[in-house]
Amino acid sequence: MKQDVIELDGAIGGGQVLRSALSLSMLTGKPLRIHNIRARRSRPGLLRQHLTAVLAAAQVCAARVSGAELGSRELTFEPGPIRGGDYRFAIGTAGSCTLVLQTLLPALLQAPEPSHLSISGGTHNPLAPPVDFLQQAWLPQLRRMGGQVDLQLLRHGFVPAGGGELQAIIQPSTLQPLHLEQRGALLGRRAWVLNAGLPEHVAERELRRVGSRLELPREHLSAVQLDERCGPGNVLLLEFVFEHLTELFSGFGQSRLRAESVADRVIDQARDWLDSGAAVAEHLADQLLLPMALAGGGSFTTPRMSEHLQSNIRVIEAFLPVRIDCSSSAAKVLHVAVSTPRH
Ligand code: ATP
Repeated sequence: MKQDVIELDGAIGGGQVLRSALSLSMLTGKPLRIHNIRARRSRPGLLRQHLTAVLAAAQVCAARVSGAELGSRELTFEPGPIRGGDYRFAIGTAGSCTLVLQTLLPALLQAPEPSHLSISGGTHNPLAPPVDFLQQAWLPQLRRMGGQVDLQLLRHGFVPAGGGELQAIIQPSTLQPLHLEQRGALLGRRAWVLNAGLPEHVAERELRRVGSRLELPREHLSAVQLDERCGPGNVLLLEFVFEHLTELFSGFGQSRLRAESVADRVIDQARDWLDSGAAVAEHLADQLLLPMALAGGGSFTTPRMSEHLQSNIRVIEAFLPVRIDCSSSAAKVLHVAVSTPRH
């Protein structure tokens, strides 16, 4: 390999360590060698979603890759130049499309030409951002930074059936720093349930619980009954629109979990963030860090350090000459600042 290789220990986190490293390798042109991929997960190594991200990233920048196999715990990735264009990727299982999209997006924003991207698999997966989260919470912040991205959901896909599809149009863009330290005034709140192939009363009970615990009037609660062929699936989405950002919390229905308990978990996450006074909740925090680092600056407040935020900081600092400072300004407010030191 021509350039110095960035060596990473994948055991510092999960799939996100791999995805962020792929994005950064594509963008910096620095070759990557990563071992212990997802070593502490119950099924370690590359799962279908991670493998799709690797192969898709390789296609977008004509990379030379070794170790790109299901179950692999070690990978080398030697990137070439990023090329925009038309791309179509199929995960082949219900693995998360949004995580594959987030791997490619930073690189495609810096491609010399626009891209049309289609990804099929799961669009609403537990432990990953639902498409709605990208549309309502993450992309609006990326657009404020200058990123030109349009994202459409073509078909819903739940675990285990999959079969969903999303489509993104990405224009070459330059990212600018963003500061998100205050939420600003509350402008609106709503909750909705996507229900596929499950009885309507499940959605109704989830919404009733949100309505009573958060005192949300009926007109801000809705159930969307989807084609049962994309089910079974049930997800409750709870949105807060503030002056400077929108946050979206989600929870999935599971067998043997009461509808009220699904709602309680989502409400508790939202309350934890609301009570903290911090601007950005846990998931948006770790997903904003990479765009801010690529912009060379930015800052936000978030309730606390998470495993994803911690490992993302380590991956970013391995590739880019940025400084990421974290300091607590109140009991439940962590201030995170990204800066580029002057030489
Ligand atoms: P793992 O290796 O842990 O099995 P993975 O490859 O699916 O998993 P993680 O490394 O856990 O991925 O990263 C998951 C990403 O999804 C993180 O950026 C996290 O913030 C985000 N995420 C998880 N749940 C939500 C949610 N409910 N809303 C928005 N984003 C979420």
